[in-house]
Amino acid sequence: MLITVVMIKEKIEIIKGDITRVQVDAIVNAANSSLLGGGGVDGAIHRAAGKELLHECRLLHGCKTGEAKITKGYNLPAKFVIHTVGPVWNGGTYNEPALLRNCYYNSLGLAVKNNCGSIAFPAISTGIYRYPFEQATKIAIGTTTEFLQQNNFPEKVIFVCFSDEMFSIYQKTLEEIL
Ligand code: ADP
Repeated sequence: MLITVVMIKEKIEIIKGDITRVQVDAIVNAANSSLLGGGGVDGAIHRAAGKELLHECRLLHGCKTGEAKITKGYNLPAKFVIHTVGPVWNGGTYNEPALLRNCYYNSLGLAVKNNCGSIAFPAISTGIYRYPFEQATKIAIGTTTEFLQQNNFPEKVIFVCFSDEMFSIYQKTLEEIL
């Protein structure tokens, strides 16, 4: 068990920054269900990737909450973008935790299917969708840890925090979980 914990800890990295600049096989987009772009990290990813990303997204016909779909990364340093739709926070009694968990699990599964050795996540649902930071972070790290216990791939998971506050919540939560 101790060996497993050490190995998983080595695979997880927490950084502060802009996900559009991270060099990994796949970055995850906190998209909306239309997949046609939006604000927050979604807007930043579309701006950095270029118009071709929107063209490919149009062919996908949307995505349900908790599910994930993959496209190329175009002008991004990342080879792929995995688009997942987080739940809107409505107080926590509308299945939000299970749906957020699905976002992480399905994105990681899609990364494996596409041979991605490295993947970077933003803090899905914690912006416009208002999911409380601490609870969302527990799900992000908890689900990822579980996935890495069950799968050898991906070899690296990076959580990209956009603020100092989020960065310290992620660090604290990782210490608590592992
Ligand atoms: P959602 O609609 O799922 O809440 P948002 O894009 O509004 O998605 O926010 C999700 C998280 O992504 C927030 O914590 C926000 O601060 C963060 N974020 C916004 N832009 C970036 C970026 N360029 N890189 C990484 N994280 C970002």
